[in-house]
Amino acid sequence: MRTYHADRGKHSSRDRKTKEPVVRPRETALDSAAQNRQATRPKVWSKSAQRELTLLRLIHSNHNPSRIELAKRTGASAGSVTAIVQRLITRGLVIESGKGATNSGRKPVSLSLRHDLAYVVGVDLGSFFSRVIITDILGNICYRSEAETIMAEGREQVLSRTFRAIHTAIGQSQIPRSAIKGIGMAHSGVVDSQSGVVLCFPRPGQMTQWRNVPLRDMLEKEFGVPSLMDDSARMMAVAEKHFGLGRQVSDFLFIEVGMGMGASIFIDGRLYRGGGGGAGEFGHMTVNENGPLCSCGNNGCLEAIASCAALIQAVRAGIQQGVNSKVNELVDGDLNRISIEIIIRAAKENDTLALRVLDEGVSHIGVALADVINLLNPTIVIFGGPLFREGQELLLDRLRQVIRQRALEKSANEVQLKISDLPSEAAALGAARLMSEEVLEHLYVGTI
Ligand SMILES: [Zn+2]
Repeated sequence: MRTYHADRGKHSSRDRKTKEPVVRPRETALDSAAQNRQATRPKVWSKSAQRELTLLRLIHSNHNPSRIELAKRTGASAGSVTAIVQRLITRGLVIESGKGATNSGRKPVSLSLRHDLAYVVGVDLGSFFSRVIITDILGNICYRSEAETIMAEGREQVLSRTFRAIHTAIGQSQIPRSAIKGIGMAHSGVVDSQSGVVLCFPRPGQMTQWRNVPLRDMLEKEFGVPSLMDDSARMMAVAEKHFGLGRQVSDFLFIEVGMGMGASIFIDGRLYRGGGGGAGEFGHMTVNENGPLCSCGNNGCLEAIASCAALIQAVRAGIQQGVNSKVNELVDGDLNRISIEIIIRAAKENDTLALRVLDEGVSHIGVALADVINLLNPTIVIFGGPLFREGQELLLDRLRQVIRQRALEKSANEVQLKISDLPSEAAALGAARLMSEEVLEHLYVGTI
C-alpha cells in the first residue's frame, strides 16, 4: 500500500509553542500534507476505477444496500454492478453482510464495507468538554473518553491535554496503531476547513489565543496520519445524516444552540458549505439592529441574544437587578454557577424570570428560523446542543408557535422540528465519519 502519511518535517515545532498568533497565508496553509494527500491519487482515474470507487462510496454511505439498489442508484446494469462488487469483495474491501428469505420471496443480499478495514479517531474540542472516540470505518464506536476542556488555562494547555487524550485513546483501545488511518476534529470556533486552520474562537478571553491556529497540520505532525478539522455544528450535522434523524431525508437543517450558535444545511443529501466554506452562520443573523454587540463585531446577532451564554447573562442581570428568582436558590447565591440546565429546571418549576428569558430567547430563534424555512423549505429542522436537549418539548412548543405565526403557511406546515437523539459525542462522531470517507479513497488506492 502506498503511504499517505503527512510530511512531518516541513514546519518547525515553533508553530505550536509560539505565544504570538500564527498567521499563515492560505496558500502556505495548504501545505505539504495536503499536497501529499493529493499525490496519492492517480492523476486520472480509469473508468473502471471510477465505477469501483463510486460503488464503494455508495456502500459506505447507504448502510447495507443490495446489488439491485446499487444498480438503481447508479443507473448501471445489474450485470455490471455484480462484476464490480465481485472485484471489491475479492480485494477484501466489501463483504456480503446479510441475506435471507421474506414472505414475499428471497431477500436481496446486502453489502457492507469490512468494518475493520480502518479505524479513525474523532475529536470534539468543545468550549466546556472535549471528547475523543475511536470508530471503525462504519462508525461503530470502540473507545470513548471525555474531559473538561478548561479553556481558561490557555491554548497551549488545552491542545497538549487534547493530544495526550488522543495518544491515550489509541493506546488503550487495543487497536493496532497501524490500523488507525486518520483523525477528524470538530472545533467550536470559526474554522477554515479547507486549510484546517482555526481562524478565531469568539469566546470571552479566547479571542487572540486561537487566531489562525493551523490545527490540522499540528495533528498530522503529532500523529503522522491524515487529519481534518471542521466546524462542530457541521460535524454534528454529518453525524445526524449518517446515524441520526437525517438518515432518511435529503434536505434538512441542523441547528446547534450552545454557548455559541451554528447551523448546517444538507441539500440533496450533501452538506452545503457555500462558496467560501462559510455557510451556516445562523447565529450571526441580525435579529435586532440596535441589539447588544456580538463577538463578530455586529450588533444584535441572534447569538448575542439567544445563545445559552446570552440567556445565562440575561438571568444573571435580572437577579442582580433584584428580581426574585428560583435560579438564585438553585445556585446558592453564586451567580457564576448559573447554567442553562439550572435555568430550564427553574422554568419547569414555573419561575417567572427563567420562563420569560427562555421565552424571549426562543422567540428570537423562531423569528430567524422562519426566514430560513421560507428560504430553504427543509423537511426537518434538527436541534442539537444543550438548550434544546434540556428544554425539549417546553421550548419546541413555543418555537412551533412562532414558526406558524411567521413562516409561510405551506413551509410552516411541512417542516418537522425535532431534537437530536444522538449521544453527546455527536460532533466527534461526525468528524470521524468525514475522516473515514477520506480514508476510504486511500484504502481503495492501496488495492489497485
Ligand atoms: Zn455576530
